[in-house]
Amino acid sequence: MRLAGAIDIGGTSTKVGIVVDGDRLLHRARIPTTRDGDPAPLVDGIAAALRPMVGAATSGGDTLLGVGVSVAGFLDREHGAMVENANLPALCGFPLRSAIEERLALACRLEVDSNASVVAEYLHGAGRGAARLLGVTIGTGLGGGVIIDGALLRHTGECAGDLGHIILDPKGPRCSCGAHGCLEALVSSPALSYRAGGRKVREIIAAAKAGDASAVTALAETGWWLGVGLASLTPLFAPDTIVVGGGVATAGELLLEPARASYQAHAAPELHRTVRIVGSSFDGWEGLIGAASLFLHPLP
Ligand SMILES: [Zn+2]
Repeated sequence: MRLAGAIDIGGTSTKVGIVVDGDRLLHRARIPTTRDGDPAPLVDGIAAALRPMVGAATSGGDTLLGVGVSVAGFLDREHGAMVENANLPALCGFPLRSAIEERLALACRLEVDSNASVVAEYLHGAGRGAARLLGVTIGTGLGGGVIIDGALLRHTGECAGDLGHIILDPKGPRCSCGAHGCLEALVSSPALSYRAGGRKVREIIAAAKAGDASAVTALAETGWWLGVGLASLTPLFAPDTIVVGGGVATAGELLLEPARASYQAHAAPELHRTVRIVGSSFDGWEGLIGAASLFLHPLP
């Protein structure tokens, strides 16, 4: 069996696991992302959670190829550290790859989280085989990755740039980056929580699925802004398929249906007809699948 460890560090929670056969999660767990000034407790927590999984996965004699890490933010050119992210300031400039290699005694590779997610969809999920694929990941922040003809776009910060900070409404709410009305300020976990009276994202989604009108409305409004954002991004990357993932996207059609309607209302007519907007295949775990692919099936 070809095995890889995987870590997905988000602004709120961090997922760890072992992936086999490209897209099967053999073990998985979620731990809180500590967000104080010192990155050591987070890295120690990741190592403590992953070590027993590595032991169990390799007890039968299989070897683990390495540990892939999906991390929010821009990466340096050597992929050794994350260099820019307003949601994870403690990790900025921290030598994350070597810290994990030291603690787990395994090879480690880092990838931008939005790249890892779009790779998972491209190789194994809803975007499989798309010639021009845009993936957006909606969590604490909003990120996007682009794969064109099988290769990741890496022109800014080792990814397609900070797609969450295109400005949709200059009079809108203040964003984590300091500007106003960015896509991320309007479409993210905090934005959805705010619209639903401060409830947590998982509670909002559960309530909406049970028919709670205010939760449905909060998701519909978030979806409406998502459609505006995707209509704004389409002329830049000309995707044929857009996959929407991340924790907020586990709402499924409650988010996607209003997003598609809004997209149709806002995008230029000639671009309407061909773009397919679909949900992730992995229910929020796409970051782990993409992180493992750094060893199991690396893309250029
Ligand atoms: Zn912003």
